[in-house]
Amino acid sequence: MNIAALRKAQELCEFCPKMCRFSCPVSEATARESLTPWGKVSLAALSLGRPEGPAAMAFAGCTGCHRCAVYCAHDNDVPAILYAARASAVRSGVAPAAWTELPARFSLRGHGEKEDLAAMRASLPKSEGAALLFAGCDALALDGEEARDALFVARQLGAPLGLAPENALCCGLKLLEGGHPELAEAHGTRVRSAMAGRKPLHLVFLQPGCAGFVQERWPLPQGSQVEHITSYLARALAAVPERSRPPPLEGGAVFHDPCALARDLQELTAPRALLAAALRGEVREPPRSGLDTSCCGAAGLLRETMPEVALQLARERRAELGEEMVTSSPACAAALGAAEVVSLLKRWLAQ
Ligand code: SF4
Ligand code: SF4
Repeated sequence: MNIAALRKAQELCEFCPKMCRFSCPVSEATARESLTPWGKVSLAALSLGRPEGPAAMAFAGCTGCHRCAVYCAHDNDVPAILYAARASAVRSGVAPAAWTELPARFSLRGHGEKEDLAAMRASLPKSEGAALLFAGCDALALDGEEARDALFVARQLGAPLGLAPENALCCGLKLLEGGHPELAEAHGTRVRSAMAGRKPLHLVFLQPGCAGFVQERWPLPQGSQVEHITSYLARALAAVPERSRPPPLEGGAVFHDPCALARDLQELTAPRALLAAALRGEVREPPRSGLDTSCCGAAGLLRETMPEVALQLARERRAELGEEMVTSSPACAAALGAAEVVSLLKRWLAQ
């Protein structure tokens, strides 16, 4: 984001009665005015591209959840402003280590995790299909079980998925979140070149934030499709006659909409349709659901830069969700200790 765009965003905030003030999970958890969307955007503009350490830490206080956008009449994209501000913190040499460590890891391993994702990817079963499962760094770092479940479920529903190639381990969103927009772009080019043989591409993501990032940022061949696993599986399920499906599992669920799935991809129906088919009990809505869903703190590198705040967000969301919580993002599921839609479908179809 250039200086002019930042100025415009800041002016909008400056004359705004802070309509989004109550919506930010980070400022709500910390009770700090400087961490409201208004406070962070103002700080980004005031620092004029040369922030100091405390300002960098304020920029870190964003999960990219876009809840503020629901209440912003001006459509201010606060995370985009703050990721640009993080880049200025990296350039000024005041960024936290969680951001500055990323380039070396990406350069060496093609992702930003500490775990050996290549080994995890190699342990997944071979699979062929017109659409490719892009398991992503979060699911692979969490042992790859969800990727295995997704391959199984897609096959059972008659829509088998292939696997994205071994050097397509991560889409690079974390580079953008960590203040390295140019490297995020270069990483994307590298990953796309590994899939260049296929035109057009049909990519299916486990992590909704990655699907949103790729949809928005990757130039893909005409006719390509990028979607979340729940959208893909809900279509496949709709083609399976009810009489051919196994009996539903006992129990119900409270569904936590991942922010990126609800607000960025606007996919509210598919996970609910899948749960309704797989469970005999009711699929219930927690407080703050759908487009107004509340963040669990798992994204935006918040866990790395403000771990206590991230834990508090997860704790508070867990208290709202109760015992039968289910979600559809590997990172949200891990943060909340919730079941995953895909893993629940695997249990259902494996009967
Ligand atoms: S992000 Fe939008 S709603 Fe929030 S303070 Fe700025 S202009 Fe107002
Ligand atoms: S995107 Fe979410 S965490 Fe970031 S400022 Fe807006 S409401 Fe707060």
